[in-house]
Amino acid sequence: MSVSALRHLPSVDRLLHSPALAPLIAAHGRPLVTDAVRGALDDARARLQAGGSPPSEGDLLDAVRARVDARVAPTLVPVINASGVIIHTNLGRAPLSADARQAMLDVALGYSNLEYDLAAGERGSRYSHAAGLIAELTGAEAGLIVNNNAAAVTLILAALGAGREVLIARGELVEIGGGFRIPDVLRQSGARLVEVGTTNRTYARDYEAAITPDTAAILTVHASNFKLVGFTHTPDRADLAALAHAHGLWLIDDIGSGALVDTTAYGLAAEPTPQASLAAGADLVAFSGDKLLGGPQAGLIVGRRELVERLRRFPLTRALRVDKLTLAALHATLLHYQRGDVERIPVWAMIGASPETLHARATAWAVDLAARSIAAAVVAAESTVGGGALPGETLPTWALALAATRPSEVAAQLRRGRPPIVARIENDRVLFDPRTVLAEQDAAVPDAIVAALARATSPE
Ligand SMILES: *Cc1c(COP(=O)(O)O)cnc(C)c1O
Repeated sequence: MSVSALRHLPSVDRLLHSPALAPLIAAHGRPLVTDAVRGALDDARARLQAGGSPPSEGDLLDAVRARVDARVAPTLVPVINASGVIIHTNLGRAPLSADARQAMLDVALGYSNLEYDLAAGERGSRYSHAAGLIAELTGAEAGLIVNNNAAAVTLILAALGAGREVLIARGELVEIGGGFRIPDVLRQSGARLVEVGTTNRTYARDYEAAITPDTAAILTVHASNFKLVGFTHTPDRADLAALAHAHGLWLIDDIGSGALVDTTAYGLAAEPTPQASLAAGADLVAFSGDKLLGGPQAGLIVGRRELVERLRRFPLTRALRVDKLTLAALHATLLHYQRGDVERIPVWAMIGASPETLHARATAWAVDLAARSIAAAVVAAESTVGGGALPGETLPTWALALAATRPSEVAAQLRRGRPPIVARIENDRVLFDPRTVLAEQDAAVPDAIVAALARATSPE
């Protein structure tokens, strides 16, 4: 391509002064648009040098707009979860209830009494919010909220076990996903983890044999994301608590998912509850806010008042402190448990969704698609709880099944849509499980499928 064609490209200045770009500059500022203009011209120049034809001014302006859009678009966007995995860690775990969302908005829009005692007119404590309610709901003397459960357990060990020994069963040294291993996280606390028992069988006497004058506590970690079956043994929480207390140790229980209600009432296996753990004698129980509790990301600690007070005053707590939005959402979520309207928490609404409702929703999608000449079937499938909770447990569901010659291409196009949809591929079909799709997203699903299929089959 000749030098003269390059010369015909408009200058940065001329494009910037084009009236067509004025609204873009007003909305996003001159520096960003200038960058985009330079980038668009660089691209055009490279294409010309590679033998391409000169772009029109309209093409250049479109390229500038596309560059600006790409720069200002949020990287974190809502996604429709049609995967059937309810607590999908990669998709942000628990969706919040309407009340929790409203509570966040209420405190986000202005000032709040986050650390202000309105009755006394003086400094208050952020740890007074939601902590009392979780203690009440679990039958604990006191509660404390930090950033997540990994932080909660690390804090407990740092405050109570740093420089000392903490006993943990070999079978409970778990990896929680994303390559993070509980023992690596816990070692950051400065406590020395002492492994007891064997992978599959651990007895109270194994813990007892490992107790030394340096031992501070026994830590139990719920094997949330895998199932140990066959020749196994784990001691009763109550026996362990008795052993710990007889030796002046604390029993710390990391129960993981924080189910406050009985999962067996929903046809699922039993998950440990903080209530049961405290009743069995655990001194501190730690769990996540955004797994089966169904609230925001948080780490909840409940247990003996004297220990919770120690944690509250421990310097590391300052580094793990929760935000006001979290506290607002958590409190609103906990109120559902207090009132007994747990079905208004999305995670529990999804777990409790009836097969009839799921069938009707999948069928409505199929009917909508049929009207647009897209064939899809409604098939029996399985949803999972996910989030490292209830491994191997599934809930029967009805899913929309789309036969495709290249299902992974269809799935890729679904992810590229706005909003993106994450579906599941099974036996060369793309499956959409209505269980994990929020009711208000129902109408968007067939539209997104139509758009994705069009992109997947277009030659580009
Ligand atoms: C999920 C989990 C954690 C980590 O909790 P986060 O809230 O993700 O930090 C720790 N322990 C157990 C047993 C878990 O299941």
